[in-house]
Amino acid sequence: MQIIRHSEQTLKTALISKNPVLVSQYEKLDAGEQRLMNEAFQPASDLFGPITLHSPSDWITSHPEAPQDFEQFFSDPYRKTPSPNKRSIYIQSIGSLGNTRIISEEYIKWLTGYCKAYFYGLRVKLLEPVPVSVTRCSFRVNENTHNLQIHAGDILKFLKKKKPEDAFCVVGITMIDLYPRDSWNFVFGQASLTDGVGIFSFARYGSDFYSMHYKGKVKKLKKTSSSDYSIFDNYYIPEITSVLLLRSCKTLTHEIGHIFGLRHCQWLACLMQGSNHLEEADRRPLNLCPICLRKLQCAIGFSTVERYKALVRWIDDESSDTPGATPEHSREDNGNLPKPVEAFKEWKEWIIKCLTVLQK
Ligand SMILES: [Zn+2]
Ligand SMILES: [Zn+2]
Repeated sequence: MQIIRHSEQTLKTALISKNPVLVSQYEKLDAGEQRLMNEAFQPASDLFGPITLHSPSDWITSHPEAPQDFEQFFSDPYRKTPSPNKRSIYIQSIGSLGNTRIISEEYIKWLTGYCKAYFYGLRVKLLEPVPVSVTRCSFRVNENTHNLQIHAGDILKFLKKKKPEDAFCVVGITMIDLYPRDSWNFVFGQASLTDGVGIFSFARYGSDFYSMHYKGKVKKLKKTSSSDYSIFDNYYIPEITSVLLLRSCKTLTHEIGHIFGLRHCQWLACLMQGSNHLEEADRRPLNLCPICLRKLQCAIGFSTVERYKALVRWIDDESSDTPGATPEHSREDNGNLPKPVEAFKEWKEWIIKCLTVLQK
């Protein structure tokens, strides 16, 4: 295992910069926010730690990229920022996300609520869910994994056409696997930063995708017509477990982070680290490091305390362990399924530690 350890000075410059305008902007932040962000360059910090590399196939080793510090983010001329009349993140689900209508609806509400807290201060709205057929996308059966896949670029075109006037971005989510072009095996997601649209698939986040017994395998496509989408009716959807919810929340916020102009993080362990495979994505934390947090705060303008409190509320609200929140007998009728947040518990403890530093 290799540890990427930067010097205190390097991290301090990446966070605060040496540009006098940005230094004075930093000094105007709330004292608690500065105290928390300064943890970035405290070697003994128990809140933020270095990036660790576990194998040569990890992102940083296999995809060398230029790092982006706060100043480079701030002065990027191509970066998109939400404006007063474009402050909404829209989420469009494509195909069913759960095995029943209620599970689909609840799951998308959990994701929406999470994004609302994560991008605190922006509106997060749902577009009416659509079946795959409405997008008119190309599709195929993957020759190696034998599962159904839809064409990511076609979906992006569909989302671009549907983008509402007040949208900062539109993100499509689906439980069907994606492919970017015929010669590629698959892709987890694809985005166009200039158009502010992205499509992300959670198909591979279920516990069984890579197992022998994966139930999403289909026999060869009897392709009578490229417009016959009936194969998607009742197609296999993985169970929405706590781990799947955590993985999808992570992917969604990482990818929306890119739409804000945040590049892959190479400073500290961070949500914005690149990941090359599922094991590496699982290792990456849910939180932003102070450098990426300052970038997001600069783009949105939230109070860090309020944002962390909203994230704690999301973990606590309507969760399966909130006593009395979901009476047993009425769960199915009122659609109030318990939110599976077990996998977020450790992170909640971390946020509470941050709130203590912020509110000293
Ligand atoms: Zn990324
Ligand atoms: Zn970061």
